[in-house]
Amino acid sequence: VLRLADVQGHPAALALLSRAIEAGRLPPALLFHGPEGVGKACLAHALASALICEQPCPAACGRCRSCRMLEHGTHPDLVHVSRLEKNEDTDHLVPEHPDVAEADLRGEILVDQVRHLLEFVPLLPRAGRHRVVIVDPAERLNDEAQNALLKTLEEPPARSTIVLVSASPHRLLPTVRSRCFAVGLRPLPPAELSRILVERGVPPAEAASRAVLAGGRLGAALSLDLAARRSRRDELLALLSRLATDRRAIGELPERAQELAGSNERSLVEGLDLVEGLLRDAARVASRVGAAGLMHADATAGLQRLAAGLGAPRAAELVAACERVRLMLRYNTNRSLIAEALLAAAAGGPLP
Ligand SMILES: [Zn+2]
Repeated sequence: VLRLADVQGHPAALALLSRAIEAGRLPPALLFHGPEGVGKACLAHALASALICEQPCPAACGRCRSCRMLEHGTHPDLVHVSRLEKNEDTDHLVPEHPDVAEADLRGEILVDQVRHLLEFVPLLPRAGRHRVVIVDPAERLNDEAQNALLKTLEEPPARSTIVLVSASPHRLLPTVRSRCFAVGLRPLPPAELSRILVERGVPPAEAASRAVLAGGRLGAALSLDLAARRSRRDELLALLSRLATDRRAIGELPERAQELAGSNERSLVEGLDLVEGLLRDAARVASRVGAAGLMHADATAGLQRLAAGLGAPRAAELVAACERVRLMLRYNTNRSLIAEALLAAAAGGPLP
């Protein structure tokens, strides 16, 4: 079973949860939020194991009957609500493989799934001492499903915990959000993530690249296609340099903005992570702080071109613009417009 101690890189969240469990004061509804691949689902499952294990200690023992059932994914007190597969009959309300590819999943978590879950929650735990419901990704609950959940969040049953997991918590209804105790997970500094990857057997040079290109997210660092991500990074660096130095490059804007926007929000956020990291490095190079702290140290030649084209003040302004663009993403779903505004700013246009 996954133990709380196995969750790496989020000491503050772990300490908070462990203390709350030991004191018997864990809030009945939790919201784990943070970027995709940062470790939210991992933390949710580790918490569930700690609560469901029959041994009264904050870490799952791994030996009791409950732990063995968790290990095999057959424990009746751990309910995982996720998006159903597209071809799945809605009678099977909890999918067996929550991690099948995005394209195979329905857009939303259906209200029937939530009703099904609520029928379970008021009951006492069936096999162990605690019942845990994980809803992931919670922002895919439609409004009707969220409203159905609201009553349970208002009057939480004893000995049960609901964990909402979300990379886009702003998409949840404010009434739902306000009833959950929020635990935020942030990306790790690349050096720390790299150390964790090395501990897991990744060769040091590869670990450093993965940590940087995954934007500090452990799950992403383990799963990303290194060559593909690096070539995306190189393309973005070349594009930013062209935009900063060559007026004719403005003609490419609409097409490149489409590419940066990608096919979903996750793709744009990944692109933004790369663009922001590159601009940050360019600002360092331009202000001659030294190459030691560069994130993309393997791309120094390209960074120097970009730095020369932008100059230090503009590079710093663009880094700040990236942060604003992230906020815009929360409220504006037109990804292409957002991407185009940012790229146009790199070409000297107004800052978004
Ligand atoms: Zn146990």
